[in-house]
Amino acid sequence: LVSRKKQKENTVVPLGDITIGGGKPLIIAGPCSVESYEQVRQVAAALKASGITVLRGGSFKPRTSPYDFQGLGIEGLKILKEVASEFGLKTISEIVDPAHIELAGSYIDVIQIGARNMQNFELLKAAGDVRTPILLKRGMAATIDEFLHAAEYIVSRGNTQVMLIERGIRTYEKATRNTLDISAVPILKQESHLPVLVDVTHSTGRKDILAPCAKAALAAGADGVMVEVHPDPATALSDAAQQLNIDEFNRFYAEVKQSGLL
Ligand code: PEP
Ligand code: MN
Repeated sequence: LVSRKKQKENTVVPLGDITIGGGKPLIIAGPCSVESYEQVRQVAAALKASGITVLRGGSFKPRTSPYDFQGLGIEGLKILKEVASEFGLKTISEIVDPAHIELAGSYIDVIQIGARNMQNFELLKAAGDVRTPILLKRGMAATIDEFLHAAEYIVSRGNTQVMLIERGIRTYEKATRNTLDISAVPILKQESHLPVLVDVTHSTGRKDILAPCAKAALAAGADGVMVEVHPDPATALSDAAQQLNIDEFNRFYAEVKQSGLL
């Protein structure tokens, strides 16, 4: 069902006034984690002022260590909802438990399925049973074929509003956190009709190369780019080293816009 052979036209995901996959790429930005109402409000106000329409923020955090900040859970989704309605933003947040999929739809506009859960088949089935748009991340060791099959799990249950996001894969290269597989973008666009995005933050883990990677993603045909922005990255409870502060984000955004690709 996700194959271009099955459907020629691009799937377009409407989110209020905007669409994803409709030909006009967008930047999705926001903190790695929802940490507090004030933190989310601060970043949302700055992003709104810059013209951003979709806010990201994780509230169920799949952390490598059990001793690291695990997220605010449902409380964080409530914060996202409150701040988004104040600023007229759409929201994306990761859900990790099939039992939360239905409930999530009343707080957020897009459910993210994280890289670590790309082949959590019960989660994919639950995501297929609702009608909330899904942003499916590529597993860190998943082939493109496995990625598309994971999307198929969702679409085959009736939820056609699925977007794919490349977020880097594990290789031997240590210069970046993961290896951004830019070739996945044109391949996914060719093989599937679903919108394709690129997470430049988690793929590179490096603030200094986000703008060229975002431009590469858009030049390769991506429908959008995701980037992490925190009002004070040094104090962030997760991914402190890789999040942009607001000034850095504005410089990043200006550089990407200047390319004419947005
Ligand atoms: C995230 O986007 O918050 C995240 C945890 O990313 P990934 O699942 O790609 O590691
Ligand atoms: Mn992160």
